[in-house]
Amino acid sequence: MSRDTITIALTKGRILKETLPLLAAAGIEPAEDIQTSRKLLFASNRDQVRLLVLRGSDVPTYVRHGVADMGIAGKDILLENNGAGLYELLDLGIARCRLMTAGLVGQAQPVGRIVVATKFVNIARRFMAERGQQADIVKLYGAMELAPLMGLADLIVDIVDSGNTLKANGLEPRELIAGISSRLVVNRASLKMKHQPVQALVESLAAVVAAPAP
Ligand code: AMP
Repeated sequence: MSRDTITIALTKGRILKETLPLLAAAGIEPAEDIQTSRKLLFASNRDQVRLLVLRGSDVPTYVRHGVADMGIAGKDILLENNGAGLYELLDLGIARCRLMTAGLVGQAQPVGRIVVATKFVNIARRFMAERGQQADIVKLYGAMELAPLMGLADLIVDIVDSGNTLKANGLEPRELIAGISSRLVVNRASLKMKHQPVQALVESLAAVVAAPAP
């Protein structure tokens, strides 16, 4: 591995599916089928580029520590806690969705202190504080939609795309917290020490993103 090798941390799942065509259009393709392999580290068609496949919340950590020079992660992950110390250079415009509050259909919000269930505890805490709404935040790791139905929480903060998951669980979207899409983040030292290859990659991805859809 040369000093100019670039390691890109990718987010597995939905984001990966939308990332691969972008990378391919920028001239980077994994050496084997990344979606079916159980491997986590992949060579690519470019000697100088390798790819890691991680959970979204781990992408900023790998990039911040410089193990990956750059990464692709959802803005929700970056807002929650992990954006600090990274350069967010590009909005890739993929995996678009919304971070929203949601509650039971037709149920008025209780007066006074409320309970909010979410995996986005920092985002929820900030949002409620900005609203002047007193709230106890309950951390969940999944199936947030169940919390209001089961009486665990008055509201949830979650990602909404079509809204079908909310609807299927008797919930309705309430307030928009942030529009979400995937972002390209870059390690600060890599941007200095590997300036030429990093900059070239950022520019080719920027050109792909700016190009009109075929
Ligand atoms: P939907 O039923 O289409 O509103 O999708 C909602 C669920 O899909 C959420 O609970 C999220 O877990 C997941 N989801 C939708 N869009 C995204 C995205 N861009 N990134 C990550 N998860 C997503």
